[in-house]
Amino acid sequence: MRKKVFAGNWKMNLTAIEARTLIAALRADLDRDAAPLSRDREVMVAPAFIAIPAASQALAGSSIELGAQNMHFEDKGAFTGQVSAPMLKPFGVSWIILGHSECRHLFGEPDDFICKKVGAALRHRLKAILCVGEKLEERQAGRTNDVVLGQLRASLAGIDREQIAHVTIAYEPVWAIGTGHNATPDQAQEVHQTIRKTLIEMAGTEAAAQIRILYGGSVTADNVDSLVSKPDIDGALVGGASLKADSFARIVRARFG
Ligand code: PEP
Repeated sequence: MRKKVFAGNWKMNLTAIEARTLIAALRADLDRDAAPLSRDREVMVAPAFIAIPAASQALAGSSIELGAQNMHFEDKGAFTGQVSAPMLKPFGVSWIILGHSECRHLFGEPDDFICKKVGAALRHRLKAILCVGEKLEERQAGRTNDVVLGQLRASLAGIDREQIAHVTIAYEPVWAIGTGHNATPDQAQEVHQTIRKTLIEMAGTEAAAQIRILYGGSVTADNVDSLVSKPDIDGALVGGASLKADSFARIVRARFG
């Protein structure tokens, strides 16, 4: 059985103090039921880099895991403004979001760059969430599969077949991110199924059956159940709705079955 993943991407929101406050509220809600919840789901929050030390302290002893929103692929060097895996890991960071559409489209991160980051995450045993997704005009032009599968193949190019099994994919249609217009469960399932078929070619049937494929794009407590009840939707990467303890806790408690 693939455990579902519910991941909060806090983006450039929340100071260290605010992150600590949000984590305390989340823990008060979720840690109560940590054992039953952890049977079939994993929970992660990804604060801004500067809030990671405070978040790390606030999460001590919790079942909620800590993630980061990006990293460089080198361990150290002349890369102004960047942060590396060896800098994140001492704070207990175990997840890393890579190839988010904001990094691809606002900051121009190309696939080969993202691919090197996936390699670095695997080398450092970080759980990578590789984001892929089409823009609205690409969907309207009937190019969704070309774009999504092109990003998937290029961002995993040269990664060993066995290693691909350790990567989590997030399908995040760009037109659904932060817009309030989520993909319907059927639209998302269709793309997730196509991604899984492609993963069979890339990594083999057994590995592809293990890989979690998350959906992201305007997930809320109201739409999460129907999304994650689809056979190939293994959880959610959540932006806006992860910034409030009650809405994220309700998402984490999604019913699927
Ligand atoms: C995201 O940033 O990954 C995201 C899915 O954002 P939102 O949930 O706000 O659409």
